[in-house]
Amino acid sequence: NDVLRIEGVSKTYSKDGAAPVPVLKDFRLSIAKGEVVALVAPSGAGKSTLLHIAGLLDTPDEGRVVLNGRDMTGQPDRLRTEARRRELGFVYQFHHLLPEFTAAENIILPQLANGTGQAAARKRALALLDRVGLGHRADHRPAEMSGGEQQRTAFCRALANEPALLLADEPTGNLDPATSDRVFDMLIELVRETGLSALIATHNLELAARMDRVIRLGA
Ligand code: ADP
Ligand code: ADP
Repeated sequence: NDVLRIEGVSKTYSKDGAAPVPVLKDFRLSIAKGEVVALVAPSGAGKSTLLHIAGLLDTPDEGRVVLNGRDMTGQPDRLRTEARRRELGFVYQFHHLLPEFTAAENIILPQLANGTGQAAARKRALALLDRVGLGHRADHRPAEMSGGEQQRTAFCRALANEPALLLADEPTGNLDPATSDRVFDMLIELVRETGLSALIATHNLELAARMDRVIRLGA
Protein backbone atom coordinates (compact mmCIF):
# COMPACT_ATOMS: atom_id res chain seq x y z
CA ASN A 1 0.00 0.00 0.00
CA ASP A 2 2.49 2.57 -1.20
CA VAL A 3 1.13 6.07 -1.57
CA LEU A 4 3.72 6.89 -4.21
CA ARG A 5 5.79 4.62 -6.42
CA ILE A 6 8.26 6.04 -8.89
CA GLU A 7 9.45 3.19 -11.08
CA GLY A 8 12.39 3.27 -13.47
CA VAL A 9 12.00 6.95 -14.20
CA SER A 10 14.37 8.69 -16.61
CA LYS A 11 14.37 12.31 -17.66
CA THR A 12 16.69 14.09 -20.06
CA TYR A 13 16.40 17.74 -21.06
CA SER A 14 17.11 18.43 -24.70
CA LYS A 15 17.35 21.81 -26.30
CA ASP A 16 18.04 22.59 -29.94
CA GLY A 17 21.75 23.00 -30.50
CA ALA A 18 22.71 22.02 -26.94
CA ALA A 19 23.97 18.70 -25.62
CA PRO A 20 21.19 16.73 -23.90
CA VAL A 21 21.25 16.90 -20.10
CA PRO A 22 20.38 13.56 -18.48
CA VAL A 23 18.97 14.28 -15.01
CA LEU A 24 17.27 11.14 -13.73
CA LYS A 25 18.26 7.68 -14.88
CA ASP A 26 16.25 4.59 -13.98
CA PHE A 27 15.29 6.23 -10.71
CA ARG A 28 13.01 4.45 -8.26
CA LEU A 29 11.39 5.43 -5.00
CA SER A 30 8.47 4.09 -2.97
CA ILE A 31 6.80 5.93 -0.13
CA ALA A 32 4.53 3.94 2.19
CA LYS A 33 1.49 5.32 3.95
CA GLY A 34 2.59 7.54 6.82
CA GLU A 35 6.24 7.49 5.80
CA VAL A 36 8.20 10.75 5.89
CA VAL A 37 11.13 10.77 3.49
CA ALA A 38 13.88 13.36 3.19
CA LEU A 39 15.29 14.22 -0.23
CA VAL A 40 18.84 15.50 -0.08
CA ALA A 41 20.46 16.68 -3.27
CA PRO A 42 23.25 19.07 -4.20
CA SER A 43 22.12 21.91 -6.44
CA GLY A 44 21.58 20.76 -10.02
CA ALA A 45 21.17 17.08 -9.09
CA GLY A 46 17.55 17.00 -10.22
CA LYS A 47 15.61 17.69 -7.04
CA SER A 48 13.13 20.04 -8.75
CA THR A 49 12.76 17.66 -11.67
CA LEU A 50 11.92 14.79 -9.32
CA LEU A 51 9.44 16.86 -7.29
CA HIS A 52 7.76 18.04 -10.51
CA ILE A 53 7.45 14.47 -11.76
CA ALA A 54 6.14 13.23 -8.38
CA GLY A 55 3.75 16.21 -8.31
CA LEU A 56 2.34 15.34 -11.74
CA LEU A 57 3.53 18.67 -13.11
CA ASP A 58 6.01 17.06 -15.48
CA THR A 59 6.18 13.66 -17.16
CA PRO A 60 9.20 11.35 -17.33
CA ASP A 61 10.65 10.15 -20.64
CA GLU A 62 10.54 6.60 -19.32
CA GLY A 63 9.09 4.87 -16.29
CA ARG A 64 5.92 5.20 -14.25
CA VAL A 65 4.52 7.36 -11.49
CA VAL A 66 1.95 5.42 -9.46
CA LEU A 67 -0.14 7.41 -7.01
CA ASN A 68 -2.29 5.43 -4.56
CA GLY A 69 -2.09 2.41 -6.83
CA ARG A 70 -3.07 4.31 -9.96
CA ASP A 71 -0.57 4.68 -12.79
CA MET A 72 -0.69 8.40 -13.57
CA THR A 73 1.78 8.21 -16.47
CA GLY A 74 0.10 9.07 -19.74
CA GLN A 75 -3.23 10.00 -18.11
CA PRO A 76 -4.97 13.01 -19.63
CA ASP A 77 -4.10 16.40 -18.10
CA ARG A 78 -7.58 16.72 -16.65
CA LEU A 79 -7.16 13.56 -14.56
CA ARG A 80 -3.64 14.49 -13.51
CA THR A 81 -4.83 17.91 -12.38
CA GLU A 82 -7.70 16.38 -10.46
CA ALA A 83 -5.37 13.88 -8.75
CA ARG A 84 -2.97 16.70 -7.92
CA ARG A 85 -5.76 18.70 -6.25
CA ARG A 86 -7.21 15.80 -4.30
CA GLU A 87 -4.23 13.72 -3.37
CA LEU A 88 -1.21 16.02 -3.23
CA GLY A 89 -0.25 18.96 -1.07
CA PHE A 90 2.61 21.31 -1.94
CA VAL A 91 4.86 23.52 0.17
CA TYR A 92 7.66 25.62 -1.27
CA GLN A 93 10.50 27.69 0.13
CA PHE A 94 8.39 30.80 -0.40
CA HIS A 95 4.86 30.75 1.00
CA HIS A 96 3.05 31.84 -2.22
CA LEU A 97 0.01 32.96 -0.23
CA LEU A 98 -2.36 35.27 -2.08
CA PRO A 99 -1.60 38.72 -0.66
CA GLU A 100 -5.12 40.17 -0.97
CA PHE A 101 -6.68 37.34 1.02
CA THR A 102 -6.53 36.58 4.75
CA ALA A 103 -4.82 33.52 6.22
CA ALA A 104 -8.18 31.75 6.61
CA GLU A 105 -9.26 32.65 3.06
CA ASN A 106 -5.98 31.30 1.66
CA ILE A 107 -6.84 27.95 3.28
CA ILE A 108 -10.53 28.09 2.32
CA LEU A 109 -10.01 28.76 -1.41
CA PRO A 110 -8.45 25.41 -2.40
CA GLN A 111 -11.23 23.62 -0.52
CA LEU A 112 -13.93 25.52 -2.45
CA ALA A 113 -12.11 24.62 -5.67
CA ASN A 114 -12.41 21.00 -4.57
CA GLY A 115 -16.14 21.20 -3.94
CA THR A 116 -16.19 21.67 -0.15
CA GLY A 117 -18.94 24.02 1.10
CA GLN A 118 -18.08 27.46 2.50
CA ALA A 119 -19.00 26.69 6.13
CA ALA A 120 -17.11 23.39 6.29
CA ALA A 121 -14.10 24.94 4.55
CA ARG A 122 -13.94 27.80 7.05
CA LYS A 123 -14.29 25.44 9.98
CA ARG A 124 -11.40 23.33 8.71
CA ALA A 125 -9.25 26.41 7.99
CA LEU A 126 -9.74 27.69 11.54
CA ALA A 127 -9.01 24.26 13.04
CA LEU A 128 -5.77 24.01 11.05
CA LEU A 129 -4.70 27.54 12.00
CA ASP A 130 -5.44 26.76 15.66
CA ARG A 131 -3.35 23.63 15.37
CA VAL A 132 -0.29 25.63 14.28
CA GLY A 133 -0.88 28.30 16.90
CA LEU A 134 -2.31 30.88 14.51
CA GLY A 135 -5.94 31.06 15.55
CA HIS A 136 -5.47 34.76 16.26
CA ARG A 137 -4.14 35.32 12.73
CA ALA A 138 -7.13 33.93 10.80
CA ASP A 139 -8.29 37.32 9.54
CA HIS A 140 -4.86 38.80 8.89
CA ARG A 141 -3.30 39.16 5.47
CA PRO A 142 0.13 37.67 4.75
CA ALA A 143 1.84 41.09 4.88
CA GLU A 144 0.74 41.41 8.52
CA MET A 145 2.41 38.13 9.49
CA SER A 146 6.00 37.11 10.24
CA GLY A 147 7.90 34.76 7.93
CA GLY A 148 7.30 31.82 10.24
CA GLU A 149 3.61 32.60 10.45
CA GLN A 150 3.33 32.88 6.67
CA GLN A 151 4.99 29.51 6.26
CA ARG A 152 2.80 27.88 8.90
CA THR A 153 -0.23 29.24 7.04
CA ALA A 154 1.15 27.71 3.82
CA PHE A 155 1.38 24.33 5.62
CA CYS A 156 -2.30 24.63 6.56
CA ARG A 157 -3.17 25.41 2.96
CA ALA A 158 -1.24 22.36 1.75
CA LEU A 159 -3.22 20.16 4.16
CA ALA A 160 -6.59 21.82 3.50
CA ASN A 161 -7.87 19.11 1.17
CA GLU A 162 -6.52 16.21 3.25
CA PRO A 163 -3.97 15.02 0.70
CA ALA A 164 -2.36 11.57 0.86
CA LEU A 165 1.10 12.91 0.10
CA LEU A 166 2.86 16.16 0.92
CA LEU A 167 5.63 17.34 -1.42
CA ALA A 168 7.81 20.00 0.10
CA ASP A 169 10.79 21.84 -1.38
CA GLU A 170 12.95 23.45 1.32
CA PRO A 171 9.83 24.26 3.32
CA THR A 172 11.66 26.40 5.86
CA GLY A 173 14.58 27.47 3.66
CA ASN A 174 13.59 31.13 3.78
CA LEU A 175 13.54 31.40 7.58
CA ASP A 176 16.34 32.19 10.00
CA PRO A 177 17.90 29.04 11.52
CA ALA A 178 16.11 29.15 14.89
CA THR A 179 12.71 29.81 13.36
CA SER A 180 13.41 27.22 10.64
CA ASP A 181 14.04 24.53 13.24
CA ARG A 182 10.90 25.28 15.19
CA VAL A 183 8.63 25.62 12.16
CA PHE A 184 10.10 22.49 10.59
CA ASP A 185 9.33 20.47 13.74
CA MET A 186 5.79 21.78 13.59
CA LEU A 187 5.44 20.59 10.00
CA ILE A 188 6.72 17.11 10.88
CA GLU A 189 4.34 16.91 13.86
CA LEU A 190 1.45 17.95 11.67
CA VAL A 191 2.35 15.33 9.08
CA ARG A 192 2.67 12.60 11.76
CA GLU A 193 -0.63 13.54 13.33
CA THR A 194 -2.56 13.42 10.10
CA GLY A 195 -0.85 10.18 9.07
CA LEU A 196 -0.03 11.48 5.64
CA SER A 197 3.14 10.63 3.73
CA ALA A 198 5.70 13.23 2.79
CA LEU A 199 8.67 13.78 0.53
CA ILE A 200 10.59 16.75 1.87
CA ALA A 201 13.61 18.21 0.10
CA THR A 202 16.12 19.91 2.34
CA HIS A 203 19.80 20.84 2.34
CA ASN A 204 19.81 20.62 6.12
CA LEU A 205 21.17 17.22 7.15
CA GLU A 206 20.08 17.66 10.76
CA LEU A 207 16.51 18.20 9.65
CA ALA A 208 16.77 15.29 7.21
CA ALA A 209 17.89 13.00 10.02
CA ARG A 210 14.59 13.59 11.84
CA MET A 211 12.69 11.86 9.05
CA ASP A 212 12.09 8.12 8.55
CA ARG A 213 14.46 7.75 5.62
CA VAL A 214 16.87 9.84 3.59
CA ILE A 215 17.05 9.61 -0.21
CA ARG A 216 20.08 11.11 -1.92
CA LEU A 217 20.19 12.36 -5.48
CA GLY A 218 23.42 12.91 -7.37
CA ALA A 219 26.87 12.85 -5.75
P1 ADP B 1 17.93 20.92 -8.70
O1 ADP B 1 16.52 21.25 -8.35
O2 ADP B 1 18.47 19.73 -8.00
O3 ADP B 1 18.85 22.08 -8.62
P2 ADP B 1 16.89 20.60 -11.42
O4 ADP B 1 15.98 19.44 -11.39
O5 ADP B 1 16.29 21.96 -11.43
O6 ADP B 1 17.97 20.44 -10.25
O7 ADP B 1 17.84 20.49 -12.70
C1 ADP B 1 18.70 19.40 -12.92
C2 ADP B 1 19.54 19.66 -14.17
O8 ADP B 1 18.69 19.78 -15.30
C3 ADP B 1 20.33 20.95 -14.10
O9 ADP B 1 21.56 20.70 -14.73
C4 ADP B 1 19.52 21.92 -14.90
O10 ADP B 1 20.33 22.89 -15.50
C5 ADP B 1 18.85 21.03 -15.92
N1 ADP B 1 17.53 21.53 -16.31
C6 ADP B 1 16.49 21.71 -15.48
N2 ADP B 1 15.39 22.14 -16.16
C7 ADP B 1 15.76 22.23 -17.46
C8 ADP B 1 15.10 22.61 -18.67
N3 ADP B 1 13.81 22.97 -18.67
N4 ADP B 1 15.81 22.59 -19.82
C9 ADP B 1 17.10 22.21 -19.82
N5 ADP B 1 17.79 21.83 -18.73
C10 ADP B 1 17.14 21.85 -17.55
P1 ADP C 1 7.64 33.37 14.08
O1 ADP C 1 8.73 32.80 14.91
O2 ADP C 1 6.39 32.61 14.06
O3 ADP C 1 8.11 33.78 12.71
P2 ADP C 1 8.32 35.83 15.21
O4 ADP C 1 8.93 35.42 16.51
O5 ADP C 1 9.19 36.19 14.06
O6 ADP C 1 7.27 34.74 14.79
O7 ADP C 1 7.36 37.05 15.47
C1 ADP C 1 6.59 37.16 16.65
C2 ADP C 1 5.44 38.10 16.38
O8 ADP C 1 5.88 39.34 15.84
C3 ADP C 1 4.51 37.53 15.36
O9 ADP C 1 3.44 36.81 15.98
C4 ADP C 1 4.00 38.73 14.64
O10 ADP C 1 2.83 39.17 15.27
C5 ADP C 1 5.03 39.77 14.80
N1 ADP C 1 5.80 39.96 13.55
C6 ADP C 1 7.00 39.45 13.28
N2 ADP C 1 7.43 39.82 12.06
C7 ADP C 1 6.48 40.58 11.53
C8 ADP C 1 6.33 41.26 10.28
N3 ADP C 1 7.27 41.24 9.32
N4 ADP C 1 5.21 41.97 10.09
C9 ADP C 1 4.26 42.00 11.03
N5 ADP C 1 4.34 41.39 12.22
C10 ADP C 1 5.43 40.68 12.48
